[in-house]
Amino acid sequence: MPEPDSTPPQIYDLHCHSTASDGSLSPTAVVQRAHEHGVTALALTDHDTTAGLAEAQQSASAAGIRLIPGIELSAEWQHQCFHIVGLGIDPHYTPLADATHVLQNTRLNRAEKIADKLAKKHIPGALAAVMAAVGDGMITRSHFADFLVAGNHVNSQQDAFDRYLAKGKPAYVATPWADLAQAVNWITESGGVAVLAHPLRYNLSSNQMKRLLTAFKDAGGRGMEIVTGRINPDEIQRASLYAKNFALSGSMGSDFHSPDQWVELGRLAALPAQIQPVWELLN
Ligand SMILES: [Zn+2]
Ligand SMILES: [Zn+2]
Repeated sequence: MPEPDSTPPQIYDLHCHSTASDGSLSPTAVVQRAHEHGVTALALTDHDTTAGLAEAQQSASAAGIRLIPGIELSAEWQHQCFHIVGLGIDPHYTPLADATHVLQNTRLNRAEKIADKLAKKHIPGALAAVMAAVGDGMITRSHFADFLVAGNHVNSQQDAFDRYLAKGKPAYVATPWADLAQAVNWITESGGVAVLAHPLRYNLSSNQMKRLLTAFKDAGGRGMEIVTGRINPDEIQRASLYAKNFALSGSMGSDFHSPDQWVELGRLAALPAQIQPVWELLN
């Protein structure tokens, strides 16, 4: 009789954020929380930065879970911003490291312009407050949303986007992100797998989605998220259909940002059986 296979099932969460970008927990705290929730393989995917990965790797080794080095790059395609998750990247690969520095400056410039626009709307002090909250992390519009909530200018983060920060609103600033193909390249050439993040959140028509996925595939993209934070079974079906039609592997990740606002780490529906799991592409 052969020995029964005693390898326990792996629990994957391949998308989450720490204080290195706009998450509220340190990389160590994210890893520990993931471990407490049963995650055995975690990808930390902070916005446009790999600054949290070294600390996360240390904590993951201590906790005995697998850390997959990741990033979530902001990239532009046909004047719209998309998020590309890189899994299994090498953060020391020079073009990728250089890109994160450029993106950090891009975000700083954008923050100054957003703050100016808010000041013109009689909401002063945004830049100083946001910089204090961010510390060494990447500045995101969520930080401005938090600032607006804290000052009682809006009722919620969503309200902040709807009234000030979203495209077409008074404090929106168009930002020169990396080109989609370029972002996919940085990830791929660093040894990683490029995954289109939360594909149904961009509100694309099915024709637009097909064109996006064609461009993404052509650039070397190999996966898309199927199971993400608050997704419902119908949406999982829709995303799976796209993945199958475009021969993309499927990823799953909570997009966890903080304990009080977001879906819990590791608390995800299963990947549909007909989808190739993206982790089969990772070393
Ligand atoms: Zn995202
Ligand atoms: Zn994210």
